[in-house]
Amino acid sequence: MTQRLYYDSPELREFESVVEDALPPSAERPRPGVILRETAFYPTSGGQLHDTGWLTLDSSERFRVTEVAEHEDGRIVHYLETPVGAAAGTAVRGIIDSERRRDHMQQHSGQHVLSAAFVELYQMATLSFHMGDDDCSIDLATPALSLGQAAGAEKRANQIVFENRPVHIRYVSRAEAEKLGLRKLPPAERDQLRLIEVAAFDLSACGGTHVSATGQIGAILLRKTEKVRQGTRVEFVCGERAVRSARRDFISLTEAAALFSSRPGDVPEMIRKNFEEGKWLRRQRDEALEQLAESMAMVAVGEQPEKNGRVVVRRTFADRDIGFAKLFAQKVARAGKRAVALVGSGMNPPGLVFAQSVGGPADMGALLKQVLLSVGGRGGGTRDFAQGGVPAGANVEQLLQQAAATIEA
Ligand SMILES: [Zn+2]
Repeated sequence: MTQRLYYDSPELREFESVVEDALPPSAERPRPGVILRETAFYPTSGGQLHDTGWLTLDSSERFRVTEVAEHEDGRIVHYLETPVGAAAGTAVRGIIDSERRRDHMQQHSGQHVLSAAFVELYQMATLSFHMGDDDCSIDLATPALSLGQAAGAEKRANQIVFENRPVHIRYVSRAEAEKLGLRKLPPAERDQLRLIEVAAFDLSACGGTHVSATGQIGAILLRKTEKVRQGTRVEFVCGERAVRSARRDFISLTEAAALFSSRPGDVPEMIRKNFEEGKWLRRQRDEALEQLAESMAMVAVGEQPEKNGRVVVRRTFADRDIGFAKLFAQKVARAGKRAVALVGSGMNPPGLVFAQSVGGPADMGALLKQVLLSVGGRGGGTRDFAQGGVPAGANVEQLLQQAAATIEA
């Protein structure tokens, strides 16, 4: 089992060790690995992500550590970009990327404080913790969480941060731990437990790396809550991540405010107004289009001579969509005379609409199907109304002529 230096010295960023084993790449693990006698590198576990860094040999050769994992036998494997040609016993120096580690310690310690705040205020237990590259989340054992509760827990957690309470590491037997009333007791049978104590606020068993005082966590910012199968998920960020995400939000909000020539705080109201205005304008436009279609239909029906007791109106709209073509066709069919409308739109996607006054002698559905057959379009309808799409580039006017010739035959 690898000796874990981070258990007692989480501040350690450089350490000396010796190679115990070198694992060549395999099909299962494509990168070479190294096992050391002791390490300060943290392997992915308990929700916390692994460290990255460098291993340096005596010969001053450097190897990049891209991933660190814990094996079932308790050994920690450092995965490298290139194989290290070192025999067992070779001295190495490990160097850990300190910014990444500091970030992980801020997120992980922040999680302890936040989870404890949810228990203290609302008796909501944390079921699991996830740390991603951008966001972190905890799943709470509650079917619902109000905005007020989220804000309350955030406020309480930040209070603990501002008080800069010390964070201690200690070891106790399982029997002792059971008497201490830990927030979280691991299910695994272990003789000795490592406890993380945020002074007079939280006590839980954990193998991760934590800050030595809560002030180092920095701000704790709750981002989002959502219902999940096992309860409620709370997304949060701590420390520098909190500053980064607040900065990103501020930039977006400032950009949005500039579009409205308003202040960031007024953006929701401006969007609401804009939305209402958009709805009103769409309604106005729809009414205007309907009136336009009706007037055009009246004119078209009036201009056409009646033949065999009906009027046939043929019209191609190059710059109006199929929606308007449909409106026009319907208005022609209801213009007061027995009429047939053969209408097309050349706009993308091009289409055809055929309509006749209710109970007319032709079959619009059949006529459309016949016309579409020649160009490979799709569509259909009833005896009095049919609509279909034609491939881009099809000659809409020619198709209408074809339809007119068929019904006038
Ligand atoms: Zn922890």
